[in-house]
Amino acid sequence: MTHPVTLILIATALCLLGTPSLGALAVAMLLLAPTALLKKRLGAPLGVVLTFVMGLACLADVFCQEFFLSPLNTGIVRLLFATHPAEVWSFCKTFVSPAILGRWRLSVCLVLLLATPFAVKWSLPNGLLAVLAVPAAIGLLHLDKTPPGRLVSAGAEAFRQDREAEIRHKVYLTETADTCTFRSARIVLVLGESFNKHHASAYGYRLPTTPFQDARGAGRSLFFFADAVSPCNMTADVFERMFSVPFPAILKRAGYTVNFYSNQFPGGNGFMAIRGGKNMFSDKTISEAAFSYRNTHTKQFDADFLADNLPPANALAQEPVMDIIHLRGQHFEYEEHYPPDFAFFSMDDYPEGTPEAVMHYDNATRYNDFVLESILQYYAATDAIVIFLSDHGEEVYDELPISGRSHGRPGLAAARAEYEVPMWVWCSTAYAAAHPDVLEALPQAAARPFYTSDLSHLLLDLAGVSGSFTSKERSVLSPSYHCPARIIAGKVDYDKLRAGE
Ligand SMILES: [Zn+2]
Repeated sequence: MTHPVTLILIATALCLLGTPSLGALAVAMLLLAPTALLKKRLGAPLGVVLTFVMGLACLADVFCQEFFLSPLNTGIVRLLFATHPAEVWSFCKTFVSPAILGRWRLSVCLVLLLATPFAVKWSLPNGLLAVLAVPAAIGLLHLDKTPPGRLVSAGAEAFRQDREAEIRHKVYLTETADTCTFRSARIVLVLGESFNKHHASAYGYRLPTTPFQDARGAGRSLFFFADAVSPCNMTADVFERMFSVPFPAILKRAGYTVNFYSNQFPGGNGFMAIRGGKNMFSDKTISEAAFSYRNTHTKQFDADFLADNLPPANALAQEPVMDIIHLRGQHFEYEEHYPPDFAFFSMDDYPEGTPEAVMHYDNATRYNDFVLESILQYYAATDAIVIFLSDHGEEVYDELPISGRSHGRPGLAAARAEYEVPMWVWCSTAYAAAHPDVLEALPQAAARPFYTSDLSHLLLDLAGVSGSFTSKERSVLSPSYHCPARIIAGKVDYDKLRAGE
């Protein structure tokens, strides 16, 4: 095989890779051709290794197209390199099974990848090569639309975001309240995980997945937000936005005790690594500036975690205090996030052909309802306000044929399942009696469109904090709340999408 021929093959493959449906064919050409080229230039072993690495990029790209409905992008690349090890393991168990060989593009890629070392002696007739020269030219002109190109640009973008985040995190060490009235003595923020609000009976789902929330909603003691939207569909990205105004550090410096109980990211070993670097809470200095206490162990089930980590109800931390409780919620795999004796729904509750994952998800949601109820009961005798919301939603085989989350440009279906989130506020009897102003403001607040990036402003308002970093227009409790453009996935205006613009 001559060098020009090999180059034509590579370029053609790169062109075809921009067309997802032809991805497998392209991988074939990409794998077979450079092996021969690199053999002459670099020697066979190194040539095969390099080709194999490029082939892996292609395989990953096709995999993402199949399961995330998007080729490789910055979000996926960050996820691959930076997610918590337990999440990666959980992810592998969910997706990597013999069943994926049923996806023909993936199995073809895999076979070709394994054939790489034997491709050295391969050759093509001249007529076919002439035909391939046209897509070859196109491919060379659009390198950025190929898996290797996408990998490089996604990596560069992740690096840029890292640097930006580092600058943003520095405010954790400096931002201070001008004044703090300690308006609410005990603020409890409960962060759910992967909670699709359309699978909650409290939001109209056909099965009774949230009986406790339903009952409290009917009794008007939970203020359900009708229209809360998350900016992102990945935990780390959502945290980055929700915590971008450093409210834990501001409140701690103002005099609040700020406890962070996370059943996903314990202290000690660091919060979590993201974006190829570290999240703000894995930095010891920032973590200490933000929190008075962090747990060091997690549990498989949220109720067990809370029983192990929250102090006894009669020995709660002295006010003023903010408790942040971060649950494992309905994270995949769903069947691992509810105890077997909480299996309430069976496959008899679903139409023929429904994937079993839907049943497990609904059971996990019902267990989560029990966990949330136990949190409210825990704080019932205190002067507490509890704000619950999920970090993001989840696909559960509703409008899109997937579970998990998609990573492409979200359309209406993905926006509904992955970015619309459940959210509510609850006040204890003592809190309600002492804060008629908050109680009066809540029904209107809950009816407003809300962008969960603004969560920090609500919390600072509840604490009675003022400073240059916040304003009434950003607190959803205020009649003058101005909801910003609700951009999801960094590029789509949710409200315009919903309006069909
Ligand atoms: Zn999450």
